[in-house]
Amino acid sequence: MARKFSGDRLVIASHNAGKVREMIELMAPFGVEVHTAEALGLAEPEETGTTFRANGELKARASALGAKLPAFADDSGLVVPALNGDPGIYSARWAGETRDFGIAMNLVEDALKKTGASPEDANAYFVSALCLCWPDGHVENFEGEVHGTLSFPPRGDNGFGYDPIFVPDGYNVTFGEMPAVEKHALSHRARAFEKLVAACFQSDG
Ligand code: IMP
Repeated sequence: MARKFSGDRLVIASHNAGKVREMIELMAPFGVEVHTAEALGLAEPEETGTTFRANGELKARASALGAKLPAFADDSGLVVPALNGDPGIYSARWAGETRDFGIAMNLVEDALKKTGASPEDANAYFVSALCLCWPDGHVENFEGEVHGTLSFPPRGDNGFGYDPIFVPDGYNVTFGEMPAVEKHALSHRARAFEKLVAACFQSDG
């Protein structure tokens, strides 16, 4: 059985502003005081894992041990099966040092063209691997996915990262065009978070 979260303070182990915003919004109903790794001066560990889960764990562990508080991390990315899973765990790196997602979205379009596939309507999905780690090193991991298709050129200013090119199944707008509440109802991060809440925040009885 998963360990229950019983504290009143939690570190959000991310330096990505878009993610931090979403994670704070997800945590809001639980009355937990959240601190970001950045505000606590915790360094970002190098993501040396080969899976979303391994990288999520690595980030949560670094913050939990550094802050001596439970820490919550997300490792996520956009998986394009026609690109053999790229950009996948390298989703942030495709945006280069300056984290320019305009460049990253162009690279996805160009890579698809090079395979001979049409970039428009290519299947894609987002993955989120959430990890809750306690200062004694105990971890609980949860994953969520949202499937959809790609659309070019990018549309919408909401969200972050690859949101402007991702159209979730059943919709004809991109995540970038959706209000935050709508994205939160179906996103990969929200799906993983639902599992985390059920396992670690709700009583068994
Ligand atoms: P990392 O998990 O910090 O290594 O970075 C994940 C990268 O995946 C982010 O920088 C985004 O580019 C992308 N990503 C993850 N989740 C989302 C999302 O909800 N929307 C758009 N892009 C995302």
